[in-house]
Amino acid sequence: MSQVTIKLEDKEIYVYEGQIYIPNKYAAGTIGSKVLINIRDKKKLLGMRCPECNKVYFPARQTCVECFGLLDEYVEVSDKGTVMTYTMCNESTIAQPVDTPIYAVIQLDGADTGFVHMLGGVEPEKISIGMRVKALFREKEDRRGSVLDIRYFKPL
Ligand SMILES: [Zn+2]
Repeated sequence: MSQVTIKLEDKEIYVYEGQIYIPNKYAAGTIGSKVLINIRDKKKLLGMRCPECNKVYFPARQTCVECFGLLDEYVEVSDKGTVMTYTMCNESTIAQPVDTPIYAVIQLDGADTGFVHMLGGVEPEKISIGMRVKALFREKEDRRGSVLDIRYFKPL
């Protein structure tokens, strides 16, 4: 850990640079668990449809953000979708699932919302908004019931 002293207006400030490792566990809940189990066991992507406004959410969620309707209808969405936006990380951190990932918001066919995941199998300069992509799942024996059972989305 290094220590840096800086001068801010008339105050002397000490700044400690470092990293904090924060391990955690997050309960996926009933809906999230069902979605992750379907990804793990069937490579099936389940969203939720709002019975009031018909909006399909992927990732699945319990409440519609448009009309606050309670969602209870699972619908399968495609493993193909469209890149809505993306960003590239040029530095690795312990919190990232891979070195220098390319994160994207992907709207899967059949869904009305975006899903954050990673792009792969493509040169960064060839990525574009509107690009069509497809999920690349891990082999069955390597799937763990995680959103990372999808390795990344690759160009169609
Ligand atoms: Zn709704």
